[in-house]
Amino acid sequence: MTKPQTTVTAIAGDGIGPEVMNATKAVLAAAGANIAWDDAVAGAEVFRAGIATGCPQDTLDSIARNGVALKGPLETPVGYGEKSANVTLRKYFELYANIRPVKELPGVITPFSGRNIDLVVVRENVEDLYAGIEHMQTPGVAQCLKLITEVGSERILRLAFALARAEKRTKIACSTKANIMKLTEGMMKKVFERISPEYPGIAPSHVIIDNCAHQLVINPEQFDVIVTTNMNGDVISDLAAGLVGGLGVAPSSNIGDKAAMFEAVHGSAPQIAGKGLANPTALLLSAVMMLRHIGDFEAAASVENALYVTLEEGRDLTGDIAPRGTGGGTDAYVARLIANLGRKPTTVAAARDYAPLEMPHWPPGTYAIAAASREMVGLDVFIESEREPTNLGASLVMATEGSAFRLNGLTNRGVQVWPPMGGNTFVVDHFCARFLLRKPLVGEGVAEIADLLQRISRQHRWMHLEKLQTFGGIDGFTKAQGEG
Ligand code: NAD
Repeated sequence: MTKPQTTVTAIAGDGIGPEVMNATKAVLAAAGANIAWDDAVAGAEVFRAGIATGCPQDTLDSIARNGVALKGPLETPVGYGEKSANVTLRKYFELYANIRPVKELPGVITPFSGRNIDLVVVRENVEDLYAGIEHMQTPGVAQCLKLITEVGSERILRLAFALARAEKRTKIACSTKANIMKLTEGMMKKVFERISPEYPGIAPSHVIIDNCAHQLVINPEQFDVIVTTNMNGDVISDLAAGLVGGLGVAPSSNIGDKAAMFEAVHGSAPQIAGKGLANPTALLLSAVMMLRHIGDFEAAASVENALYVTLEEGRDLTGDIAPRGTGGGTDAYVARLIANLGRKPTTVAAARDYAPLEMPHWPPGTYAIAAASREMVGLDVFIESEREPTNLGASLVMATEGSAFRLNGLTNRGVQVWPPMGGNTFVVDHFCARFLLRKPLVGEGVAEIADLLQRISRQHRWMHLEKLQTFGGIDGFTKAQGEG
């Protein structure tokens, strides 16, 4: 039976990109994958042509049309805009899941060889500190907003559970820093605890991210699926890749509801570009993920097994992974891979048995959660001041006499400095003044807030406001270290 043809956008990218892309296309064709490649450009040449996103509309249209892309590494040349084309693609298509399989490869010797590491890191890919909302609040104090949403947490967690099912994995560890960031990191933990009972047969656990890093190094074989927030995932997915041979052999996918993009984790390796030395393993393993995504499980297993055979035999490997002095070029490696199609490895497990990924879909729309009740109880006003905390506190108490608010405390980088607690007195010119309402307000409190700001502005410079709200009677804000 002839396989249905799938059109896939191919972005060869920069540096060694075209070499590893051609190698990958050749192996896929030999494995019988029925793919029509829709070649598109992104990266350095596009930036140089004056397109600030690094990604022309034609390329975006191609991915939108095909829904699947295989991508080589992209460079952002110095002096051409400040946004990376990779980030443009992730954000444009809301590719919210970054999936990084981490599996021991035969013949790729690491300190962890022989321990059969076989895990997947599922990283939330668009929220968290990577929303990129940053402000200089004073000339010497920078802020980055860490945004974590309930719906964003739920969709990555449900995808991680679906992936566990598709790959017949039985354990999932959600890893957060909920012990410190109770509202943001805690959001993912809370949603994980809510939904995990819906997935019987997959054992859930929570592990604090720093311990997760530690456990990955001392006992990596305990993990099956790790799901985590964006920043945590950025770090531990690279750490995990290092356990099995590093970024040069690490594949990845970036998945959203409308599109999926598969790419090697490594960069464009400009030092070896054009020399026929590049190792295509990472892009090839990314293409294996892509084949499963489009439903060609047969070709995926065939390529994956041929790769394991080639690596375990150790002949014609590229210089970066070959035993010293035996390294060859990309072409010889590809020829060997193709010759090994149809064989199964003998020293490591063959490719796993996969089922289609039943991906939960999130229709477009504005996701909102209604509060059972909501009340404003105060206001945090961020103030730039060179005064001593005691002096600033006294001044704000005086300024707000007779207003709707009273000063509850001053914090400096999260530590209470007024009323004074003793302890370290190292402060910077960036204070959070927490004002609480003297009595509940009717309405939004716009007039009262304006009055408060006017009173503060007579003597002080403020740069940021945050309403203190309760939702369903529960505080929607945290307390400072030491705050009563
Ligand atoms: P790199 O991954 O390109 O290179 C790091 C080292 O690994 C180099 O020694 C390189 O020769 C080697 N290497 C990487 N891939 C290899 C392969 N397939 N075969 C053999 N050796 C390989 O990282 P870098 O030098 O930090 O970055 C170079 C450029 O790539 C930069 O412009 C960077 O922005 C870009 N980059 C792009 C992506 C992406 O598009 N996803 C990721 C990382 C870096």
